[in-house]
Amino acid sequence: MRLGILGGTFNPVHLGHLRAAQEALELLNLDRMLFIPSALPPHKTDKSIAAFEHRWRMLTLATGDNPAFRPSDLERHMAGKSFTVNSLRKLHEDFPGSDLFFLVGLDAFLEMATWFRFIDLFRLASIVVLNRLGYGTEDVLAFLVRHLAENFVQSGEAVFTHPDFRPVYYLPSTRLDISSTHIRKLVAEGRSARYLVPEPVLSYIHANCLYGVNGINGE
Ligand code: ATP
Ligand code: MG
Repeated sequence: MRLGILGGTFNPVHLGHLRAAQEALELLNLDRMLFIPSALPPHKTDKSIAAFEHRWRMLTLATGDNPAFRPSDLERHMAGKSFTVNSLRKLHEDFPGSDLFFLVGLDAFLEMATWFRFIDLFRLASIVVLNRLGYGTEDVLAFLVRHLAENFVQSGEAVFTHPDFRPVYYLPSTRLDISSTHIRKLVAEGRSARYLVPEPVLSYIHANCLYGVNGINGE
């Protein structure tokens, strides 16, 4: 099986995530896309993160109408902070013989050298870099040459290869400049986040008073 993975805080999930996942599914001919919310994001320890259960329910609502999309609660019970390398190892155990494709926005990709055991990530999965405004393929190659191997090469318009690593892809996906941060800000200011998140997610946010000025975590 060709298994796509989109990890994130999903605080909340939005149309940028869903559209990127859909395009990756088609362009890389993937069988399934797992959305994995992090339990305790290593890089985000502030209080503006909604409880796992809320982020999980919003993901369930957002992905329910697409048979290839599945939320995965793999990181819910992971001891300590959730590191991507542990999740990818677990996925190899759970889906033996599968090819893993780990999606990451270009902004996050360029920070990957700070991730726990980051070199292993490039052996465990094909990294699929999602187009974000202001960056290009040259940034991807520069990162690979600098942090992984000098002789990493661009072997197609959007593929980078090296014998020691899985191929790295650059996905020329539609740029939807949507972020969860912006959505949280809109909601906190009492403005509408319509057309940025799926309608059921918006209803969920309001029904549970998430991201408001008073109850940031809806608790
Ligand atoms: P925040 O604003 O809280 O950082 P976010 O919108 O960046 O949230 P995350 O949950 O942090 O969302 O992102 C999960 C993954 O999705 C990351 O790899 C990120 O780069 C990618 N991503 C986020 N927004 C988009 C978008 N609009 N288009 C494509 N990829 C995105
Ligand atoms: Mg982000």
